[in-house]
Amino acid sequence: MRVVGEENVSLDEPMSEHTTFEIGGPADLFVTPVTSDQLAEVAQIVRSAGAPLFVMGNGSNLLVADEGFRGVVVCTSGALDNANVDGRIMRCEAGVSLADASEMACELGLSGLEFACGIPGSVGGAVFMNAGAYGGQTADVVCEVRVLTADGDVRTLSGDELAFGYRTSRIRTDGLVCLSASFELVPGDSEEIRATMDDLQERRREKQPLEMPSAGSTFKRPEGHFAGKLIADAGLKGASIGGAQVSEKHAGFVVNAGGATAADVRALIHHVQDEVERQFGVRLEPEVRMLP
Ligand SMILES: Cc1cc2nc3c(=O)[nH]c(=O)nc-3n(C[C@H](O)[C@H](O)[C@H](O)COP(=O)(O)OP(=O)(O)OC[C@H]3O[C@@H](n4cnc5c(N)ncnc54)[C@H](O)[C@@H]3O)c2cc1C
Repeated sequence: MRVVGEENVSLDEPMSEHTTFEIGGPADLFVTPVTSDQLAEVAQIVRSAGAPLFVMGNGSNLLVADEGFRGVVVCTSGALDNANVDGRIMRCEAGVSLADASEMACELGLSGLEFACGIPGSVGGAVFMNAGAYGGQTADVVCEVRVLTADGDVRTLSGDELAFGYRTSRIRTDGLVCLSASFELVPGDSEEIRATMDDLQERRREKQPLEMPSAGSTFKRPEGHFAGKLIADAGLKGASIGGAQVSEKHAGFVVNAGGATAADVRALIHHVQDEVERQFGVRLEPEVRMLP
């Protein structure tokens, strides 16, 4: 029996077409399941076969190597996008975009996902990373997540069992696949929710280089500092290697200024880490995930 249709599988798929950096060589096999059961089944088959597996969402926090990935990439964004609401609980399959989830909540007069409206990731990626912005984070609203464990079991974990931390969760530390997640929201006024979302979007447009391909904040926030400020103070705004550049608008973002390779981005990340450490004694840690 076929798990997914032919149209949901491709060979040598250029990852540059599936990452917001617009960088990355081909994945040997690229699969886009349509249901969360299919996602679990595909991931389990790949693991049982002993092939390298990488599950991704919208590729908005991802730097894929120029050589690509020798294995199977299972991508939830695009097809795995079913969401429904029961009272104040919103259940989303892993590939639902945060933009769509927050928009749906707003329309239904449910508050809690406003912080997520401008984060260009999927629900699965948000749970994995504990994505957050402007004082809100995924951990605050997740009440339940359906996961595939490393042993191949499908389990439901409560928010408390997810061990959320700064840009991390048990999905990340235990190698789980997030199949779907439920958010517990609170009734609110749609107009007020919309006004908050508009305000947050405006603040993003003002501060962030949204017009250029990137993967968002390149580095995690170091304890007691802001990465962007350290980088700017180190005189690195606008610094570039090949097509990769430290954004002139926001030094916390490395952008693809045109034709950047993954090697360019990695070299620039290392240069920024070394220079900031030399000047301020702080070693910045990448927030962007590297594949492989
Ligand atoms: C312009 C811009 C602004 C951004 N602003 C923010 C921000 O304000 N706050 C913030 O936190 N982030 C921000 N980001 C980063 C990014 O959007 C988030 O980290 C987001 O949560 C990543 O989701 P994704 O679906 O794109 O994940 P991907 O980039 O596809 O993957 C990221 C990681 O999650 C894993 N993953 C994804 N889906 C699953 C799944 N179903 N099961 C298991 N693992 C999975 C992948 O293996 C990978 O390791 C920004 C990015 C951009 C480009």
